[in-house]
Amino acid sequence: MPLLELTNLSVNYGAIQAVRDLSLTVEQGEIVTLIGANGAGKTTTLRAISRMLKAKSGQITFEGHDLLRVTADKVVTYGIAQSPEGRQVLARQSIADNLELGAYIRKDTGGIQADIKQMYERFPRLSERRHQLAGTLSGGEQQMLAIARALMSRPKLLLLDEPSLGLAPIIVLEIFRIIKELNAQGVTILLVEQNARLAMQTSHRTYVMEAGQVTFSGSSAELVGDERVLHAYLGG
Ligand code: ATP
Repeated sequence: MPLLELTNLSVNYGAIQAVRDLSLTVEQGEIVTLIGANGAGKTTTLRAISRMLKAKSGQITFEGHDLLRVTADKVVTYGIAQSPEGRQVLARQSIADNLELGAYIRKDTGGIQADIKQMYERFPRLSERRHQLAGTLSGGEQQMLAIARALMSRPKLLLLDEPSLGLAPIIVLEIFRIIKELNAQGVTILLVEQNARLAMQTSHRTYVMEAGQVTFSGSSAELVGDERVLHAYLGG
């Protein structure tokens, strides 16, 4: 049984069909990439999984739980965390406050503090700046904070929305190194990326979306040189 399974998912914004009949699976231990042109429906798909958005029809199951029957909070307790597009850190709060926010479903104060320490070890840049407000961090550091915040709920599945957006190439490589490392440590990852090549080089499988639908999918190694990917990515 896949860890996450989307079956014929449709999501609308009013009259706009943003996602149509989308089916996708993520197996335990995988990094799966979702790519496509701007507006293809990638963010909408992630937000439907995390229950930030209501689905119109279809099914989403995670470890046998029917996600469409539960609230966004419940989804986090099941083990899914999202690092949103644009990072969305609390600019006027400290790094520690932002990390604590990621642990809002947990009650084990000691464990939370231990995990914050662990985040500082994993992300030394955050540790060095731990007394600064999150809004004073660079884009790359804010991205690291957004990922660290998501990890604070101890997720089995991490949803990453455009982690490389607006970052310098060297920082992008650093973020992708972290993604691989997290995966090697047991976190399954569903990754939405504009940087298709790097995302495919980093992931096991890729789904390509066009106009709200999956047009094709396969092993990332096989699709990385596929002309159809470029075509979809450029929007046809
Ligand atoms: P991007 O890379 O630009 O974020 P995306 O593939 O993530 O693109 P979505 O953001 O999921 O695409 O958008 C899918 C479609 O839904 C687009 O046509 C978009 O214009 C539309 N859309 C997204 N958010 C809203 C909203 N809040 N209200 C109405 N339409 C929306």
